[in-house]
Amino acid sequence: MSNRTAVITGAASGMGEAIARHLVKQGDRVALLARRTDRLGELAEELGDRALPVTADVTSRESVDNAVRQVHDAFGPVDLVVNSAGVMLPNPIDDGREDEWVRMIDTNVTGALRVIGAFGADLVEAAAAGRTADLVNISSIGAHVTFPNYAVYGATKAALTHLSASLRSEYGPRDVRVTNIEPGLTDTELGGHIDNDGLQGQLGQMVDAIGALSADEIADLVGYVTSRPRHVNLRQIVILPTRQA
Ligand code: NDP
Repeated sequence: MSNRTAVITGAASGMGEAIARHLVKQGDRVALLARRTDRLGELAEELGDRALPVTADVTSRESVDNAVRQVHDAFGPVDLVVNSAGVMLPNPIDDGREDEWVRMIDTNVTGALRVIGAFGADLVEAAAAGRTADLVNISSIGAHVTFPNYAVYGATKAALTHLSASLRSEYGPRDVRVTNIEPGLTDTELGGHIDNDGLQGQLGQMVDAIGALSADEIADLVGYVTSRPRHVNLRQIVILPTRQA
């Protein structure tokens, strides 16, 4: 039993949900953050008293501050933070979808930063007390590979990847690990918010042709990296379906 206390954003579905299940199975407490209260409630019910549902919107400072209070009241300080909340809203740049650009930047980059800012002190404190402390950011292979119409999404993930690398220089000397995970195609709800039928279809065709990882496979990886001895930091991991170039 690893007995850690984790905060997982994006826990209402996909990777975040799978990571929550995985961590509870190995004996951790998990605070489940996302906006859909009903989904979090169902998951918390399934996972039992080691799970705390916390309705939170990472694009709102006030909401994240409220989440911190709820997590601390229920569990005390945390020693593992997983930033999995994210949105992927591709469209041609010529469409000028400022609404989508703002949403992606505010969720995928500033949202992750808000969460890091909110729980970073907990991680530093845990490490100073001799415990293992982890920040895990779910970036994307899109941080490195360019796809037409995914420019802004890719840019947010490149920013998160760079942020993760840079944060190691601030957290590493204080024994807080930072792990950046860059998945390829993974079977989740992520593509469900695409409002361009052509691009929605293209994503489906890619999955049919290449196959996809499961959210459980990402969760298994998170379980692995966060269970190494605390001086071992797998700082950057690309995980792809074997057929994805
Ligand atoms: P999902 O859409 O299933 O999960 C995203 C989660 O983020 C949802 O639970 C959603 O819950 C939550 N979320 C979205 N916006 C907010 C917000 N403003 N505040 C709080 N929570 C929010 O997709 P995935 O599991 O695939 O996505 C997880 C991460 O993995 C994302 O960062 C994504 O970019 C990344 N990724 C995914 C890949 C894939 O192929 N699936 C590949 C590479 C990276 P709610 O709506 O209730 O808030």
